[in-house]
Order: sequence, then structure tokens, then C-alpha cells
Amino acid sequence: MTELDTTQEGTPAVPVWEYADAPESKDIVHLQDRYGLFIAGEFVEPKSGKYMATIDPSTEGILAEVPEAGPEDVDLAVAAARGAFESRWRDLPGRERAKYLFRIARALQERAREFAVLESMNGGKPIKESRDIDLPLAAAHFFYYAGWADKLEYAFPGRDARPIGVAGQVIPWNFPMLMAAWKLAPALATGNTAVLKPAETTPLTALLLAEVIQAAELPPGAVNVVTGAGETGAALVAADVDKVAFTGSTEVGKQIRRTIAGSHKRLTLELGGKAANIVFEDAPLDQAVEGVVNGIFFNQGHVCCAGSRLLVQEPIFEALLEKLKARLQTLRVGNPLDKNTDIGAINSRAQLTRIEELVASGVEDGAEMFQPACDLPERGFWFRPTLFTGVSQSHRIAREEIFGPVLSILTFRTPEEAVEKANNTPYGLSAGVWTEKGSRILWMAERLKAGVVWANTFNRFDPSSPFGGYKESGFGREGGLHGLAPYLELTPREPAPGNGRHG
Ligand code: NAD
Ligand code: MN
Repeated sequence: MTELDTTQEGTPAVPVWEYADAPESKDIVHLQDRYGLFIAGEFVEPKSGKYMATIDPSTEGILAEVPEAGPEDVDLAVAAARGAFESRWRDLPGRERAKYLFRIARALQERAREFAVLESMNGGKPIKESRDIDLPLAAAHFFYYAGWADKLEYAFPGRDARPIGVAGQVIPWNFPMLMAAWKLAPALATGNTAVLKPAETTPLTALLLAEVIQAAELPPGAVNVVTGAGETGAALVAADVDKVAFTGSTEVGKQIRRTIAGSHKRLTLELGGKAANIVFEDAPLDQAVEGVVNGIFFNQGHVCCAGSRLLVQEPIFEALLEKLKARLQTLRVGNPLDKNTDIGAINSRAQLTRIEELVASGVEDGAEMFQPACDLPERGFWFRPTLFTGVSQSHRIAREEIFGPVLSILTFRTPEEAVEKANNTPYGLSAGVWTEKGSRILWMAERLKAGVVWANTFNRFDPSSPFGGYKESGFGREGGLHGLAPYLELTPREPAPGNGRHG
């Protein structure tokens, strides 16, 4: 045990254990110099002829080159998806579709370590998260929706459930594999085919997933993966798809909605958030501190449902703050592949710049910043865990999504005031409530305008539980029974002949 860092005056003494490095080996990952697009079951060179480099954000080293798909590539992928839909996938009995999904799920479990290491290399997230959360949840999603594939008539009693067609799916960089699973599993289970566009900074696990899908012998074209940046995403939205499923920024979500307005295309949007994590004076403090830390520092705060606004009831403000500051000093920032790392690399230079700009605005607006002293690696993109006190609701750091390891702390006196402040945001994705009182949890949950309300926990995900937003956080639900509906045409069922009348 070493002496505590006391570079920040007035912070309480906590013992910090020294750990030896415990890096996960990269040997299990076999990178190619150059990847292809996954279209109609094959890896192909892009017609655009363009490639882009993809890097490791913790070193800025180039990992590989991936295609930048142009409109022609996107159209080929969509045509392949339509071909697979019409010739095979749509009409395959649910129990047969399920077998493919189970195969994918099992392959993800078998190759989980390889996927987790690659996810951390390409995205910067700590290996303990990709290993214990992203990959197990991605596999669980495929298992879960495999289970629904042959039970759609029970999911929607009295209605006929038919697939929509080709889904164009655009996903972000914060949970590359998990978001791919959230998109593909329900689409395939319900008999749709898909074209997936991973984010520009994190294409590699989606391409590895394409290998798994190829090995699982899905009908060629049932799943296609086109890599590229925003322009590729825009081309997919504009292509001949029947449904668009998007997860990303509210700004792009709005743009997509404008683009497809008036068309037959169905749309679900999972956008940003600025969640309140609300701690009442009767909450078990140490447990709440862990929940607050998990709520904002999980995945470097690159989480749409992150608890980025902490609302603390006034009587416990000082006590909670002291514990939080002490806890922050024990967080380990650094090599994503080290098993002891709590906070990995920021996903990209662009995201780091955005975080820095918003944090500077917080200081400028007069909020008080706290950061523990910690060494940061020389290369790569890093940001220290950060707290702001003295935040008012009008500050940008209290209103805008920072999408980084930055917590804004506000206080409240009464439950009514907590609700008012929590809902004072254009977003409505998630919220957290910490209290011993069950009745208060229910009272709060009824009033919080958020798609998910966690009680005495935060950032809990399960495939059986629907997830999605209110207001500018988007619409549509992913996960659970609810997650099937956006991929289905539901019509009242015609009574079968001789079976329509009972009494
Ligand atoms: P983004 O919305 O630009 O990117 C998300 C995905 O959309 C990527 O695959 C991207 O290539 C694609 N895309 C970009 N422009 C597009 C367009 N015009 N049409 C179709 N697809 C398009 O997000 P970003 O720029 O990487 O991040 C900016 C901010 O967005 C972040 O700081 C954060 O606040 C927010 N964000 C939220 C989530 C989330 O999970 N809700 C995820 C990523 C980013
Ligand atoms: Mn963008």
C-alpha cells in the first residue's frame, strides 16, 4: 500500500493499492491488414475503391484498413438483403430461424475472449467491461430473441405478425458489439433481413461478427455489414430499405427523421440522454456512491443512459461528496487491456475534443471542478474522471450530453423538486433513484419522464427488459417483447374457418 495522493487539497485520505500490470494478451486476435465489406455472404472489395484506417484509441496506432462503402456498395448490400428476404428468410419457419440465432449466440460465447479483446483494442473500453458486460450481453441478446422466433403468435395474441422486409441499421461506437446484437437479433428473429452500418471508429467487431454469421451459414444476404462514416450511414437511410433503426446522436436522429418523412420506411431512434441519478437522504450512502460512480464512469461515460446529472438531497450533500471524491482517487485510468483498469481510453480525438470543450464551458460558467491526480499515458486519448459542484441548471454541463467521464452535481430539498429538476431536460432516456423507501421509489418512477428508471442500482441491462426513450431521446423500444414490435407488421388476425366463434 502506498501513501495517498494528496495533490488535491482537502480531499480525504484513502489507501490506494498498487497493482502490478495485468494486461490481457492480444494474441487471440488475428487482424487483417485490410477488410472487405460483407455483402451476400462474402467479403468483397468496395466499388467505391475507398478505405479508411481504424485505430486503437489508447495508442493511436493503426489496427487495419476497412472499406468506406459508397452508395453503390450500400445499394448492393440492400439488394442482397432483399434477395435473401424474398427467397428464403421471410418464409423460413420461426423454429428454423431460431436455430441460426442460437448458433450465432453460441459462437459469441465460444469466441467471447477474442471479441472482448478486439472490442477493447478498437474502442478503448476496459477489458473487464467488454469481457464481463458487452460480450455476455450480446450473446444473451441472440439467445433471448432466438427464443421468440417461433413464438410470435403468442407475443401478439389475436394479431398476425409479419416481417417488414429489409432493415437498415446504423449503430454508434460506444457499445459496438452490443448495439449490433440489439439491432440484428430482433430483426432476424422476426424474419427481416438487415444491412448493418457500424460506427466509423469501431468497425472491427462488426466485421468479426460477420465472420461468425458466415460460419453459421445464414442464407447469403440475410445480414450484410457495410463500413464507413456518416455518409455511408446517410446512403443506407436513403436506400431501398423498409425500416431504419438508428442509435446515435439526437442531431443525426433528427436529420434521419427528416430524410425519411413521408416515405413508407418505419423508424426507431435511440438517441442521447442526460439522466438524473437522484440520491435521497435515507439512501445507503456507500452503496449509492458505487452506483453514482458506475452510473457516470462506466465505459468512460460514453453511455447514452449515463447518470450524468447527480441530484443529491441537501442534508447529505457534504457527506456524499466527500465519499465520492475519495472513491474517484481509487479509479485506475489507463491501458484498456489491463484487467485492473476502471477507465480506459476516450473513443476518438473528436470525442475528446468535445469533452474538453464542454468541461471548459463548465469552468467558465463558474462551476467548481474536481479531478483526482492520476498519471495519463502519453499517447492516445484520455480524460480524468471529473466532478463539478456549484452547477446550476442553466449551465451547459447540466444540459448537454457530454458523453465522457464528467459528472455534474446539483442538490434538491424535496421529492417534488427532485422530479422537477430531473425532468428539466429535453432528454428522457433513463433515471436512477436511491432511497430506502419503496413507496418513494414508486412515487418517483411514476413522475420521472424516462424510459428506464433504476432503483438502488444503475446501468443494469437485460435482454428481456425493454429500453428506449421519451422526448429527444427517441422512440421505439429495444429489448424484451417490446423490441419485437418495431420489426413486425401487426394486423388483426382473420379467424380460422370454423374456429372463429366460441359461445
Ligand atoms: P453520430 O450520431 O454522428 O454517429 C452515430 C452513427 O451514425 C455512426 O455510425 C455514424 O457513422 C452514423 N451517422 C453519422 N451521420 C449520419 C447521417 N447523416 N446519416 C446516417 N448515419 C449517420 O454520433 P457521433 O458524432 O459519433 O457522436 C456525437 C455525440 O452523439 C456524442 O458526443 C454523444 O453525445 C452522442 N452519441 C450518442 C450515442 C447513443 O448511444 N445514444 C452514441 C454515440 C454518440
Ligand atoms: Mn457525428
